Amino acid sequence: MDKKRQEMYRKRLVERQAQLFEAVSKTEQDGRQADEEPAQDLADKASNSYTKEFLFKKSNDDRFILHLIDEALQRMQDGAYGVCVACGGEMQQKRLDAVPWARHCIECQEKQEQGLLQ
Ligand SMILES: [Zn+2]
Repeated sequence: MDKKRQEMYRKRLVERQAQLFEAVSKTEQDGRQADEEPAQDLADKASNSYTKEFLFKKSNDDRFILHLIDEALQRMQDGAYGVCVACGGEMQQKRLDAVPWARHCIECQEKQEQGLLQ
């Protein structure tokens, strides 16, 4: 992959990383606030735990993407960015344009979704 293109992806990764860091710490704050608000009745309690569950799930998704971004930046340092971790083939440009932290090429991603890939 040429340096210019990789640099463009690196910028996108770093920007996204900063956004997610912010989102994760904000979500944790919201979660603590939900804990501190005294629940008045059962309906409140239910909505409170629903909110917490939602925040927890969202935070997990964000953390997972953060992890994938870390890995992608590491692969850039190793000179292995843009190469599918499963088949070793070069990743399609449209795949990286859509998901710059992707680990798999389109074919391997499809296999993984069907449970055909470890
Ligand atoms: Zn592949």
